[in-house]
Formats: sequence, structure tokens, C-alpha cells
Amino acid sequence: MTAITLAAPLAGWAMPLSEVPDPAFAQGLVGTGMAIDPTVNELRSPCDGTVLSIHRARHACTVRTASGAEVLLHLGVDTVGLNGEGFTAHVRDGQSVKTGDRLISFDMDLVGSRAQSLVSMMVVVNDGYTVDGQSVDREIAAGDAAMTVHGGSGADAGLPAAGPDSEEEGEGETGERSVVLPIANGLHARPAAALVAATKAYPGTVTLHCRDRRANAKSVVALMGLGTVLGDRLTVRAAGPGAQDMAESIAVLIEGGLGDPVVAGAGSQAAPAASPAAAPAQPAAEEEIGAPFAAGEEVLLKGTIAVPGQAVGTVARRFRTTARVVEQGAGAQVEEPRLRRALERVVAGLTQSAQRMPEHAAIFQAHRELLDDPELLDGALADIRSGKSAEWSWQCTARRQADALAALADPRMAERAADLRDLEQQVLTALSGKEPDVGLAELPAGSIVLADEILPSDLAGVPAGRLAGIGMAHGGPTSHAVILAAALGVPTVVALGRQAERVPDGAPVVIDGNRGELLVFPPEDTLAATRTAVAARTARREENRRSSREECRMADGTRIEVFANLGRVSDAPGAVVEGAEGCGLLRTEFLFLERQSAPTEDEQYQQYQQIADALEGRPLVIRTLDVGGDKPLSYLPLPKEENPVLGLRGVRVGLREPELLRAQIRAILRVKPAGVCRIMVPMIASPSELQAVRAMVDEERLRLGRAEPIELGAMIEVPAAALIADRIGAVADFLSIGTNDLTQYVLAMDRGNPHVAAQLDALHPGVLRLIRLAVMGAKTHDRVVAVCGGSASDPMAAPLLIGLGVTELSATPAVIADLKAFIRTLRMEDCRRVAEAALGTDSADEVRRLVTETWPAL
Ligand code: PEP
Ligand code: MG
Repeated sequence: MTAITLAAPLAGWAMPLSEVPDPAFAQGLVGTGMAIDPTVNELRSPCDGTVLSIHRARHACTVRTASGAEVLLHLGVDTVGLNGEGFTAHVRDGQSVKTGDRLISFDMDLVGSRAQSLVSMMVVVNDGYTVDGQSVDREIAAGDAAMTVHGGSGADAGLPAAGPDSEEEGEGETGERSVVLPIANGLHARPAAALVAATKAYPGTVTLHCRDRRANAKSVVALMGLGTVLGDRLTVRAAGPGAQDMAESIAVLIEGGLGDPVVAGAGSQAAPAASPAAAPAQPAAEEEIGAPFAAGEEVLLKGTIAVPGQAVGTVARRFRTTARVVEQGAGAQVEEPRLRRALERVVAGLTQSAQRMPEHAAIFQAHRELLDDPELLDGALADIRSGKSAEWSWQCTARRQADALAALADPRMAERAADLRDLEQQVLTALSGKEPDVGLAELPAGSIVLADEILPSDLAGVPAGRLAGIGMAHGGPTSHAVILAAALGVPTVVALGRQAERVPDGAPVVIDGNRGELLVFPPEDTLAATRTAVAARTARREENRRSSREECRMADGTRIEVFANLGRVSDAPGAVVEGAEGCGLLRTEFLFLERQSAPTEDEQYQQYQQIADALEGRPLVIRTLDVGGDKPLSYLPLPKEENPVLGLRGVRVGLREPELLRAQIRAILRVKPAGVCRIMVPMIASPSELQAVRAMVDEERLRLGRAEPIELGAMIEVPAAALIADRIGAVADFLSIGTNDLTQYVLAMDRGNPHVAAQLDALHPGVLRLIRLAVMGAKTHDRVVAVCGGSASDPMAAPLLIGLGVTELSATPAVIADLKAFIRTLRMEDCRRVAEAALGTDSADEVRRLVTETWPAL
């Protein structure tokens, strides 16, 4: 037995483990030790030894002493969920360290504000150690003697803690059970400790196998060292008396989350979708992400829904490998003209792309504008003049600017960073003298492209039908690339996390844009079932298209209008083909997204008129500018706000910038024939806001000499508006419910936050009750109630919305033919009955179950 003295790894207030606000540590389940509430931001080694593992989230590290004691250092409580954010590791697995060496540094403000507590633990995790003495309940300096332990029973002997997988030769009873890990942050300290507590008393061995590694299930460090992530398939193997029962009971514990929340649907493609939303993306750790998934190893990766649809295909990897650029240049006389020629080549390429895809010319124009940005060129030229190469100068300047954009809280700005990274690559390619990358144009048919981030230029030359799907490790669901992918009808999932990099080229996959999932190496039956489902869906849609232009009536004759949501002029003709009976929401902020200056009244009028013409007399509901929140416009800077989604948004901006709103109103009033357009106002919270807009409409009507009135509607997106819909209905000609924002505000869940995406479901009974209130309020004035938010495109929502009294749905064009066909099969009495029952449930999952029980084909 050896006594070991451990030095304090941090300065701060030292305390006994029992005071830690985490039961697993406080009850000694993780190991024996103490804790420190730190006053410094650097974690140092408490002993000489070897770094056994740095957790992939960089919040924890284990050092093994020469005598075999494994010392786990865990920074803060509930810090694994930060996925590495705020932590920097200074050592690698296997590295030798001396007492006092820096292991991990951390951002105290960031971690302190996001974690449950900064109190950090130092515990000896292997069996048989007892504490001889501790220096607690006092201030301690890093490096002070903090704790002496002695012992070491070797209870884990006979099995290496963690290591490469291999077949164990075993005699006697063995048992095995496979299970999918449903824990968002993998087996971190708390669930690992719970697992150890469950296996410790077992007289035999229990091991956990994941990918090509295994771990002793009686060792917290080994389990943490497995580096598991959500959705990993684990095999539990036991050897000893009652081995099969043991493996079984451990698997059940894992399925139950081991004390952590269970992520619904994490494991099985076949599991019913509890919600159409996606589970949180996997962490974007900087360290090793693990070996490529082995052929045949079924893995489910979860991301965020971007473009709906399913596809089967083979993976074409397009992860960017960064070529090293040489720093030293050949002098400004050589490097400056090189850079300018490269820029000219890229500009010429952008012009060609714009000609090939005229409907997306605005995107390529935006790239040109970025290239024209004087700061970008000046920054690169300054570096060139200080002796650097054109490549080095361009790369540094472009990355600096892209990083600055990406660091902004605003997701759209972060997406512009992707445009800059695209340009960085294009210019480097041009400087290398190579032909521009063929992008995705020459992919074999049926390819599913996996990339860190697909860029607009990648999609520029892709012929329709070539690309079956897109999965991105990063990216947001509203990026330019996603807009293009939607236009090509390519199912897309974003924010899959870096685990996507482990998918090998050529691997068979199923991409599910409806659920935000990528299934790697699916079993043959899943592949076949998905192919059949895709083919059946295509055939059904073709069939449904045949009757889609006819007006939509339910089986009992009730008329339901099905409109389209539009964001671009070029979407309108296609929407009519799909069966749109009009446009129920024109998102006007999307028409001029790329502009640096506000569009004139004439420019706006021309776009509206073109859309009205394409709709051939069908109604066109034009929403006034809905800027703010997650939709900033570069030509309309708004003050920086703490909570922009609760700040200057929608009509609040319109009333603050009345000249902008008036110009838009005039443009709408000029569209011919008079009466085809309706005006809809976003983010209404009180009748007075709509009255203020109506006063402007009346004044502008007078100025234009237009006699005919124009219908003016309110969007119901703010819970208050739903609650006082009777008051708003008194001054509005119609109401249209924006379920995207209504759900975000009712559930207090940011619609852009991947961590709450799985729960953000518009079918939550709380949202449905508000919809009923809105409908009842509108009825008192006989007003039509439409829904134009995302749930209008969700077939499961249709019978409920109709049953609650909604008579118009405005959906994304691609779903209209199917939606109309489904509505034609519905009867009002069933819809009312199920809607009423849905209002009395506890959760969106229950509501979805009710719907599928009544309409099993959904
Ligand atoms: C909504 O909030 O549901 C809506 C239709 O508006 P947007 O998605 O543009 O915010
Ligand atoms: Mg909205």
C-alpha cells in the first residue's frame, strides 16, 4: 500500500466532497476525494504521472500516478454539456506530467455563467483508496498539499481499464446485450459513476464495447475514456454467474439514461418519431474525433432539419482539407498582381454561376459584393506589402473577417461567414492555378454529400437529380446553401456535429430530412424499406399532383383553402403547379436579403406584381417587413439588443421606421388588379399597433387616389395576441397564426437553439389551446383564421388545426399536393373530436399519438 500526497490542482476554497452540488460526486460514487471552488482559471496536475485521458469536452482529465492511482480532475458541475466551449486542453492522452503542470485552462466567466457550479472535484477513482488527510474548509493555493490517500486494492486487476477491443477468452457463463446510448453527452462522470455503482458488487467481469474499443464497466475513468456520444451502439458483455441477466440489467439501466435525461429516438431508426424536430447536435470538439466508422457499423447521427425528405445513397465526402500555404512571398510586385488576377478569375466564375442559375443570381451577386469589400482587399494587400505571399495574406484576412462574423450572436451573420470561407477557398484555388473545383456537378447519381459545410458555390453547377441528399457537420437551417438545396429539392440535415467526419467515403446511408437524421451503414431491410418509402412517396405525390389544382374540400364538403408560403419571385409558378390556391404568406424580408441599401418602392412593386402575375389572379397575402430577431437586414441596422427575439421585431420596427413601412404599403397598393393583395402585419401584440398601420394604409391609399379598400390582417405570433384575439379581431380583417414564433414564445424555447429543438413542437397542447382561443376570438367578429407557420406544412397538424376552426393553411409549396389530398379524406366531426381530445393531453408526443391512432397512414 502506498500513500500518495496530491497537490491542490487549483487555488480557491477547499471543501469536502460531500458539499459538492452533484449527488454522484457528493455520495462518493465517482471516487474518494475533495473539491475546490476555484479562484483561478488553470487546472494543474496534482501529482507526477501520465495523462490517462482528456475528456472530449475538455472539462475533465485523469492522471495516473506511477503507483497506479487514477486521479480524476473534473472542472465544475454539469460542464460536459458545454461540449468543450470555454475549455482549452494543454496536454494530450498519454503525456507525462509533473506536479504543477498546466492541464486545462478555462474561461471562468463563460463556464461560471453556463455551468451549474464552478466547484471542481479531485477524486481517486480506483477501488480501495482511503483518505488519510485532507486540507478542506479553507482557502488553498494551487500546489499546496491538499490530500493524502493510501491503498489500491487492484480490484480492477485482470482487465485493462479501457483499450482496443478484442475477443476475451473466457470460461463459464457469458452474456451479451446491445443497446443504443440515449444520453446527450455520452458516458460522462455522472452516468459512468451510476454504471460503476451497478456493476461493482457483481463477482464477474462486465465490459462495455463501443466501436473498436472496450472499457471495464467497473471503472469510471475507463467508461469516460470510451468517448461515447449520443446514439452510439454499445455492447454490454458480462462473464460470471448470471451473466446474461447482468448484461440485460445493465443495458436496461443505460436505456433509462443512468440518471441523465433520455433523448427520445436516439437509438433506433425504427422508433416512432416523437416529434419532427431534431436532438441537439453533437459537440464540435477540436480534438480527435475517433476512427472512421467501421463498415457495417450501424450509427445514427442526429442533426437539425433543414430540407425535408428522405433519401438512400452513398456518401461522397467533401470535408475541406486545408492545404498549407507558404507564408513568405516573392515581393509585393509579384504577389499583388497574382492576388488581383486570382480575384478577377473568381469574379468571372461567379458571373458564370449567376448565368447558369439566374434564379439565384442574388446569392452570387452577394459574393461579388463581399469580394469588393475594401477591408478584405486592403487587409490582404497590407500583408503582401509586409513581405507575405498572396495566399497567406488572403487566407489570414478572409479568416479574420469570417471569424469575426461567426462570433456574432446573430445566426445570419454567422452564415455569411460561410460565404467568406467559400470565397477564401475559391481565391486560393485560383491562386494555385488549378481549375476551380468541379464542386458537386460530377458526382455519380444518388450521392449523399457529407461536408463540414456546403457552400453556395458547391451547388452552383449541380444538375437536378444528381444529388440525393446533403449532410453538414455545421451550418444553419437558413443558410444560402440550404435555400439552394431546397430549390433543388435535396433532403438536407445540418449541424450533425463532427462525428459526421467519421463516415467513410462510399458508405451507404439513409438521410432523413424529416427527422434531421443520418443513418450510416443501415441494415439491408432499412435500406430496402426506405427505398420503397421514397418510391411510394414520389408516386403518391405524382398522383396527388394530378388533382392538386382543384379546390380543396374535405370529405364532408367543408371548404379548406390551401395556400403557399413564398419567399422569392421564382417560387410562385411552381407553387401554382403544386396546387397553391394563393399565397398566404409572402416573406418580403427574403426578397431583398442581399441588399446593402433599402429597395425602392418601385423595386418592391415590381417584385410583388411579378408574383401576383404568376399567381394568375389568386390571392396574395403580403407580409410587411418582418425584420429583427434572427432575420437582420444589412440595409436596416438595428440597435444591439440583449434579447433581440424579445426586442425590435416585426411591426415594432415598422412603426419605428414609418417611412420604410409606408414605402412598402404604397408598393403593395399599386399591384394590379386592385383587390388581389392583402396586407399582413407580423408580431402584433395589441390592437393599437394594427390601428396605427391601418391609419398609414388609409393615408397612403388617399395619396395614391386608390378608392378600393385593402384587407389588413394581423399575425398571431405573440401569446398575448392569441389571448385577446377578440380585441384584435375587432380591428383586423383576418388573422393568420404564425406557429413558429407562437410556439417559441409559448414554450419559452428559442426556435434557433439546437439544444431545445427536440422539444420545440407546435403540437404542444399549450400551443393548441392558444390556437383555439385565437379562433374563438376571431369568430366573435366572423374573421377568417389561417395558419401560415410551420405546422401548416405538417400533415399531422392539419386535422387538429381544422378541428380547432382554422379554415386556411399556408404551407411550403412542396407539400401542397399531398396536403390537399389528405385534407380531402378528412371529416370535420373526426377532426373536432381529435382536436378536443388533444387539448386535454399533457404533451406534444401524446397529441401526435392521438393523431396517428386516428389516421394511421400518417
Ligand atoms: C411564424 O412565426 O410562424 C411565421 C410564419 O413567421 P416566420 O417564420 O417568418 O417568423
Ligand atoms: Mg414569425
